[in-house]
Amino acid sequence: MGCWSGEVMSVSAPASKLEPAERSVTLLGATGSIGTSTIDLLVRGKARYRVQAVTASRNAAALARIARMVGARFAAVADPSCYAELKEALAGTGIAAGAGEGAIIEAARRPADWVMVGIAGAAGLRPTLAAIERGAIVALANKECLVCAGALIMRRAREAGATVLPVDSEHNAVFQVLGAGRREDVRRVILTASGGPFRTWSIEAMRAATPDQALRHPNWSMGQKITIDSATMMNKGLELVEAHHLFGLDPAQIEVLVHPQSIVHGLVEFRDGSLLAQLGPHDMRVPIAHCLAWPDRIDGALPPLDLARIGTLGFEAPDLARFPALRVARAALEAGGGAPTVLNAANEVAVAAFIARRLGFAEIVALVERALDAAHRRGLVRDPQNVDDALAIDHNSRSLAGDLLLEIAVKAS
Ligand code: NAD
Ligand code: MG
Repeated sequence: MGCWSGEVMSVSAPASKLEPAERSVTLLGATGSIGTSTIDLLVRGKARYRVQAVTASRNAAALARIARMVGARFAAVADPSCYAELKEALAGTGIAAGAGEGAIIEAARRPADWVMVGIAGAAGLRPTLAAIERGAIVALANKECLVCAGALIMRRAREAGATVLPVDSEHNAVFQVLGAGRREDVRRVILTASGGPFRTWSIEAMRAATPDQALRHPNWSMGQKITIDSATMMNKGLELVEAHHLFGLDPAQIEVLVHPQSIVHGLVEFRDGSLLAQLGPHDMRVPIAHCLAWPDRIDGALPPLDLARIGTLGFEAPDLARFPALRVARAALEAGGGAPTVLNAANEVAVAAFIARRLGFAEIVALVERALDAAHRRGLVRDPQNVDDALAIDHNSRSLAGDLLLEIAVKAS
């Protein structure tokens, strides 16, 4: 089975139904928002899945609880200082424990048919590649690794015969809808955006926005980093890059449409003018269920959508003046090479600084833009040749963004 892009479209789904215990799975980022939604589906479909490995950053107690509950064989924390706690919590269970980045990669390498990458940030890059390189089905929720090194990931997937399934709701929607036609007939793809908590706020009000306000997403319940990205709309900017790599689309073919109800997740327009969409509740269990069973379907991940109750679906053009992240991300995508790598790294630094109250809300995207300018001047936006190169650009961009952060702090004091 090839990487889905361009190939799966022509492969019809196998007629056989998934038999009990037919798919072995690994969850990277099991304690997070995506991890929790995935576990809910695994527990409900217990008989069909065997869990190979589960991982987390540093919450050993929560990870041990999950590992016991799903009967995993291996559990790993990224932070080595949490190893003793994890080992103790798993004592007598027969579940092996590991710690450090190497252990997260080992979890990805273990022979599970299907791997969910629910790690947040570019930290997901090496584990994603480890799963891809052994030809696994990789359900990719982590978008940062595609922004950091998308061309490399998709190339390795093709070479290794791995399958990359998009979990991100908009991309999962597009993936499902693309099946309705031929690739050469696709005119454009539309990713919807809720507009986040500040959709109707003025620029002045947004400037004073606090982390607490930015973390109150109107529709989706998600991890902190992606929730802040939704408030700046950098999330949609990252998703432009994600769509470019997943579907092999030109930047000009990918558009963003604000849709406050988050019911229509993605649309595909074919050249005859037909516009097809995927709809669903704003709950990640729907796209995760699609990936978990793919190419099969499982019964009702959620109650059916009641469109009569929802009543109205609204759409607006995005406002690039209030949400400059969309402009900055599109420019990085069009510049290509290492520009998206720099964009992602600087954004991770800026979002962490905003959460730590070291940076104002409007300064998040300003910092990213300044980091991109500085990176261009320093020759950091070269096309990453391999993973080490991508991670070196990522590392240097983080230092650069860190320096700019200090400058901003000095000016403000
Ligand atoms: P989260 O913060 O809730 O969870 C992140 C998980 O990754 C946790 O289990 C954490 O322990 C682990 N982790 C964090 N840093 C790590 C590191 N350095 N090494 C190993 N593990 C680490 O995040 P989330 O909201 O579940 O998002 C996960 C990914 O999925 C992100 O890339 C996000 O953009 C993407 N995504 C999330 C949603 C959503 O609804 N939550 C929707 C679409 C895409
Ligand atoms: Mg999304």
